[in-house]
Formats: sequence, structure tokens, C-alpha cells
Amino acid sequence: MTVTNGDAHNGNLPPAKKLHFIIVGGSLGGLSIGLALKDIGHDTTILERNPEKLLHNQGAGIVAGGDSLEFLKRYNRCDRPVAVSSQKRQYYDKDGQVVHERVMTQNMTSWDLTYFLMRANYDGVKSNYCDVPEPLPHHGKAVHLHGHKVTSFEAIPDGGVRVHYIDTRSGSNNAGTMDGDILIAADGPSSTIRSNLFPDSQRTFAGYCALRGTVPEHAVTSPTLLAFRERFAFFHAPGIQILAYLIPGINGTVEPGQRLINFVYYTLFPEGSKELDEILTDKDGVRHRITMPPGKTDPKAWEKQKAIARDRLPPQFAEIICATKAPFVQAITDVPPPPANSALDDRVVLIGDALAGFRPHTVASTSQACFDAMTYAEFIAGKISSEEWKRQTMGYARFTQDRGVKMGVRSQFGEEGEDGKWRALSLEELIRDRDEASVPRREQVWPEWTTRI
Ligand SMILES: Cc1cc2nc3c(=O)[nH]c(=O)nc-3n(C[C@H](O)[C@H](O)[C@H](O)COP(=O)(O)OP(=O)(O)OC[C@H]3O[C@@H](n4cnc5c(N)ncnc54)[C@H](O)[C@@H]3O)c2cc1C
Repeated sequence: MTVTNGDAHNGNLPPAKKLHFIIVGGSLGGLSIGLALKDIGHDTTILERNPEKLLHNQGAGIVAGGDSLEFLKRYNRCDRPVAVSSQKRQYYDKDGQVVHERVMTQNMTSWDLTYFLMRANYDGVKSNYCDVPEPLPHHGKAVHLHGHKVTSFEAIPDGGVRVHYIDTRSGSNNAGTMDGDILIAADGPSSTIRSNLFPDSQRTFAGYCALRGTVPEHAVTSPTLLAFRERFAFFHAPGIQILAYLIPGINGTVEPGQRLINFVYYTLFPEGSKELDEILTDKDGVRHRITMPPGKTDPKAWEKQKAIARDRLPPQFAEIICATKAPFVQAITDVPPPPANSALDDRVVLIGDALAGFRPHTVASTSQACFDAMTYAEFIAGKISSEEWKRQTMGYARFTQDRGVKMGVRSQFGEEGEDGKWRALSLEELIRDRDEASVPRREQVWPEWTTRI
């Protein structure tokens, strides 16, 4: 079953005063806010440090939460399916038998399909993923500049902000500046803007990694395909969690047989250990700090992981790991939100991973970026107050970041008892954690401390 986006935008009158927003970061966060502001008639310029025109596909899946789907419904005008759906959650034991299941529809997409949909809608980038929709008369100007690495910024005395960047295209490294009314930091979990404003807000390693990858559905045996087709499948063991689901395939195809099985395999790699160095050192000997891109993994290190997978995982999960041609590795990190999501009299605003970096267990990072973008655009359009925008976006960031840490610790390390000893959680407890995390945002009850501004 596939999911199509609805009829996109909600017609808008031109804004009373057109503003120019400079957005730092051209990944899903930067594109989301660019699209939402363009739709209410404001001009935006995205500065992306990557020296190439398009970001590289990491070939991985995204669970499209309610806010991601709501975002696409509002702003995506490309007429094509945006996700594949899963109908059931299933938990497996080590022998590959289903030990728990729950009927539940969830939508799964891929990073690359989402990126190309957003680029088609934002600045008309053509691709094999989708047709480019015609611009609408009320849209603001949307400019995307690659190879622009933002280094610093300052308030302009009479209003607005000045951004300093270096041009990283063809190694020129020329310095430049750009002025705008408001600066949006969508520069990800290691945000330069956040570090500059809130130096105490640091990114820290959580003690485990996610080994990730995809396999075409036609490349696995029938019993394995049955475990993942229209299923969101899980396996837990002490120190291990693996989950897998189907996502769109090459160029975003949702054709049965052409889709991809996507997995996320969390396993312990203690800080400072030889194993951590080994898994994050690529085939050319370069030690990556947080993410090892697809296709770079050292074959020897990966062979070792395959043997461990065959030993510790149910056969269906071991098969997809062993069949993966371009795995990648992501060290799991925490980025707690700083005390506020704006600074310099709201002339600088933080969104997405630059505001708070969640552990992937929450499956909420793309949803956060979409939610931040929609909520901020509502504030700029005068539909909600500044307090409401801040309460909502800080609430989402604090609540979800905190929950991600708890889910990750409980899943990978267990729970510390009063005697100071750690015990692994039962499967029922782990299922309950995930079920709680799946409560739609509108039904979540955020404690008072999360929405304090
Ligand atoms: C290439 C890529 C692939 C990803 N793949 C997946 C995936 O498969 N599944 C998934 O769930 N999530 C993925 N993510 C993460 C996911 O996109 C984010 O968690 C979420 O969408 C919110 O992202 P963000 O835009 O806030 O931050 P990020 O996605 O981290 O993007 C930040 C962007 O800012 C740019 N940037 C950083 N510093 C500067 C600077 N000083 N000047 C200019 N630009 C700067 C970076 O190059 C990057 O493009 C990926 C992210 C990237 C960048």
C-alpha cells in the first residue's frame, strides 16, 4: 500500500512586510523552513556548506511521523506517493519466531525521496524522483546556494543580521557576507550558530552506534521478505536492538519488488574502545568522528560485524545485514536543547537538529524539523503568538530529547536498581517504551518544565 500527499498549499495573501530570511543548512530542516516561509510570501536564501549542488544520499529510511506527513500535505505539490506503509509491528525471538505483534499503520519514506521532493518544491530542482511543480504567484523568492559555509554572524545595529561565510566551492575559500532580516540556524546537531550562542550546549556520545543499511527486497529469501514486507520488525537482546522496515527504492520507486529493506542495528561500542575506533575508521584509514558514510566501511571491520550478527540475531535480520553492500555507521549522540530557541531579540532562530539532537529511537528528527518549520511560519503569518511558537517548539525539543535518552539507555543498558546494579528490561517493558513513543504529538502530555519559556 502507498500513501500519496494531499492537495498541497493553503492559499495566502502577500505578507504586509516581505522579510528576507537567511537559512544556514540545506538539509531537511533548512528546506522545511524555506518551504514554509516561501509559502507565506517571504524571501529565503539557504546557505549550505556542501561544495556540491546536491547533498549525498545516505540511502536510509525515515519513519514519517504525523508532523512529517502533515508538512508534506501542506507544502508538497509533486503528484506522487511519498511513503510506503507498514501494517503491523512484530517482535521476534532469536530463532526468528514472532513473539508479539500489534496491528498499526505507519508510513516509511527515505531520506533521498524527502530531500528531492523538498528541493523540487523549494527551488525547482529536477530529478528522477518527481516532476517540478509550477511556482505560485504568492510565493516568495527561494534561493539555494551550495558551497557557502557560515562561520559567524552579528546583529546589524539598525535591525537585521549579517552572516559571514566562506565559499567552499572549487577550494576558493573566498570570504563573503550576506545581510537579512532573520537568521535561521538549520545547521544540524553540531550547529555552528548554536555553539556560538550557547557554548554550554554540547553534543556527547551515548556509548553505542547504529549500524545501518538497505537491501533491495528482491535480493533476499522469501521467509526474510515476509518478515519485513508491510511490517515494522524488531528484535531485542542485552546491548542490542535491531529494527527493519520497507522504504521506497531507487528514485523513490514504491513498486513492489523494487523497494528497499532498511535496518537500524544498535549495538554497544564503549567510548575510547578499540571496537569503536575500528568501526569508525574507514577503508582508507580515516577515523570518522560521528558518521561513517555508505561505501566507506573497512571490509574487515564489516566482516567482523556480519559474523557477530549471524551469532546474535534472528536469521531474517542476520540475512539482511550480510546482504548489505554499502552499510554505514552512526555513533549515537545527545544534543540537549539550549535554554531558548532564539536569540538577539528573535533575530536568530534555531530549528531541527540545531535546536535539539534526538536519539534515533524516537523516530522524530525529521518530524521535529517539519514541526518547527510549520509552527514558526504560523507565528510569522500572525496566526499564533511568539509565546505559543516558543512554548510549542521548546516543548517538543525538550520532551522528545529527554524521552530519546531514556529509551536509548533502557534499550541498550537496562535499568539501574536501588542496589546500583543494572538489569536488562523485559520485552514487555521495551514494547511499552516504544508504544508510548508512538502516541501522536497532539495526544502527548508534556510536563510543565518542557514548555517553560
Ligand atoms: C546527508 C544527510 C543524510 C541523512 N540521512 C538520514 C536518513 O537516512 N535517515 C534519517 O532519519 N535521518 C537522516 N539524516 C538526518 C535528518 O535529515 C535530520 O535528522 C532531520 O531531517 C533534521 O535535520 P536538520 O536539517 O535539522 O539537520 P541535518 O540533517 O544535520 O542538516 C544540517 C545541514 O547543515 C549543513 N551545515 C552545517 N553547518 C553548516 C555551516 N556552518 N554552514 C552552512 N551549512 C552548514 C550541513 O551540511 C547539513 O546539510 C540525514 C542528514 C544528512 C545531512
